[in-house]
Amino acid sequence: MKIIRTIAEMQAAADAERRAGRRIAVVPTMGALHRGHIRLIERARSSAEVVVTTIFVNPTQFGPHEDLSRYPRPFEQDVAAAGQAGSDMIFAPSAEEMYPDGFQTRVTNDGASLGFEGAERPGHFQGVVTVVTKLFTATKPHVAVFGQKDAQQVAVVRALVRDLNLDVRLIVEPIVRDADGLALSSRNVYLSADERSRALALSRSLTEAQRIVDGGERSAEGLRRAMLAVVESGRPDRIDYVAIVDPASFSEVRLIPTTGALAILAARFGSTRLLDNAFLQPRTNEA
Ligand code: AMP
Repeated sequence: MKIIRTIAEMQAAADAERRAGRRIAVVPTMGALHRGHIRLIERARSSAEVVVTTIFVNPTQFGPHEDLSRYPRPFEQDVAAAGQAGSDMIFAPSAEEMYPDGFQTRVTNDGASLGFEGAERPGHFQGVVTVVTKLFTATKPHVAVFGQKDAQQVAVVRALVRDLNLDVRLIVEPIVRDADGLALSSRNVYLSADERSRALALSRSLTEAQRIVDGGERSAEGLRRAMLAVVESGRPDRIDYVAIVDPASFSEVRLIPTTGALAILAARFGSTRLLDNAFLQPRTNEA
């Protein structure tokens, strides 16, 4: 396993692979790898000859009162787990390497990033879009693998690739969950046992939403109210949002179209903020 710390070294390694005719897949992560990340690395492994996992806790996507300093960083474990899943290289630059003195250019999204996570976390998506651009220019991938867990990030990165004509194919993997339904997240380690069991209300509300859609409900407001009731049954310390949106624009829909819509939510249990989402698909045999 090759661990690369500088952009210049990463670009040289990527150039060498490309010259040898090998295709590169990148999996951007902030480390603290769990089975969700492992699934992305395995997908990358089956999509290209060379797999680069990036591990970078990107300071610019954290707000001033967020968990940047306490974010888990089990680097040695991550290297072993990524290697076992099939990663050939780890790109793990320092913050100074990515944002040296004089850094002054940022990439901004003016569409899908505006609501929800973007509204709750000002500056978050500018940080994400800028770092993804830099991780792409460092690793020179043919393919990049992201998780549906961060659905709004997927919409924003799709727009980045399309709007700036980046020559990268995006692959999006479904959400990996624990057996009880909780979506895996590096932040789950912050949850107490009680918070964790209350947080199961999030995935339950998504299952309930799909059940109601299966029953014929098409009103987003009706679905939202039903989801809210389930989320509230978990006594979250705060609900940031529960909404039904178009998966590309992240604007709210009034009715679920036949092509489906995305149910998204964010809530806090104790000091831990959790996200979840599910694509709601009406049955196709209806008129
Ligand atoms: P993070 O390290 O949290 O920035 O996540 C890195 C990548 O892993 C992102 O593309 C996430 O969407 C993805 N990811 C995180 N959790 C999961 C999960 N439970 N299932 C699938 N992908 C995930």
